[in-house]
Amino acid sequence: MLLRNATLVDGGEVERGAIAVDRETGTIRATGDPERLDGERVVSLEGYTVLPGLVDAHVHLSLSGERSVEDVVGMSDAELALVEARNARKTLEAGVTGLRVMGAAGVDPVVRDAVAVGDLPGPRMTASCRSITVTGGHGHHLGREIDGPHDARKAVREQAKRGADFVKFMTTGGVTTPGSDPDSVALTDDELDALVDEAHRRGLPTATHVHGAEGAVAAAQAGVDTVEHGTFLDDDAIDALLRHDVTLVPTLSAPHHIVRNVEAATEEDTRKTRAIYERHVESFERAVEAGVRVAGGTDAGTPFNHHGSNAVEVEFMATHGMGPLDAIRAMTETAASVAGLDGSGTLADGTPADLLVVDGDPTADLSRLTDPVAVLKDGRVVSGSLPSA
Ligand SMILES: [Zn+2]
Repeated sequence: MLLRNATLVDGGEVERGAIAVDRETGTIRATGDPERLDGERVVSLEGYTVLPGLVDAHVHLSLSGERSVEDVVGMSDAELALVEARNARKTLEAGVTGLRVMGAAGVDPVVRDAVAVGDLPGPRMTASCRSITVTGGHGHHLGREIDGPHDARKAVREQAKRGADFVKFMTTGGVTTPGSDPDSVALTDDELDALVDEAHRRGLPTATHVHGAEGAVAAAQAGVDTVEHGTFLDDDAIDALLRHDVTLVPTLSAPHHIVRNVEAATEEDTRKTRAIYERHVESFERAVEAGVRVAGGTDAGTPFNHHGSNAVEVEFMATHGMGPLDAIRAMTETAASVAGLDGSGTLADGTPADLLVVDGDPTADLSRLTDPVAVLKDGRVVSGSLPSA
């Protein structure tokens, strides 16, 4: 299939041209000015833009935007698997073709593998299984609680045994866990060192939930690969991220959705989020200004943050200091790189033909990403349709 006369946006560059998709292998055959093969279907995309499918570096498939995470706690693995299957499909249909799934449930690898073999519709994904947290800490309802460095290593080994692609742990407290203080550091330096060392020894990257600056510095020093949220970053924390080459996944969507739903949100979530939202945005702006590497992630699944509205995060990042092309890149190429999804987030030859086709110019109006005319995965249209003219 030859998609002609399109505007192609890839890797921070915009060019006019065509993109050829090999339907047999589901990969991109060539971009630029590829020749038409005998009998090949040609689609003119004059006025449309083709981008790599979005990659969301932070979602929770087991949560569905419930008011409180406590609503999900009693679900069996069978129920969670069905919930995750539904959320995976919604996410794909919205134009997100790659995911880094941030745990909660141990069923994530089952869903990941079912998608990979074609049994379920969904984005390609990597998973962390259960998040690791201190006893009673953020996310303990669905996480693996630990105490001490030995237990930290055991918890990493358990996730690896279940098929985790990376390891996620909670360095600080969080917003959505009742009684948890987002600003305080929960894991000790010994525990952080053990978690990162044990993961890296197995070749697994590490991601950590962090709100407070002190937690960001501690996690960066321990060698963590990505910091999630980074709500209260100060100069020391930003410096630590730069020095230790840590990528920030800002998840600006998460507090946004709680703040816009104050009347429906829990009293505790509202109080905590109101106190931090402005500082979160400010913290992100400072990190961007300082040159911290950013990967787009939404925290989809958290209260009112529904699967399928992921693309709004690109707009948030652009509103708060990133150029539109940089924001798109953060939620394609960079997110794919931190997710360990090689070949995703790019229009390079030979990579999977996971494409987003949008009407008009998304770099002038990023909201167009939220309503793609067609989404392709492995070269096949999985939602919407290509223009017929
Ligand atoms: Zn999260």
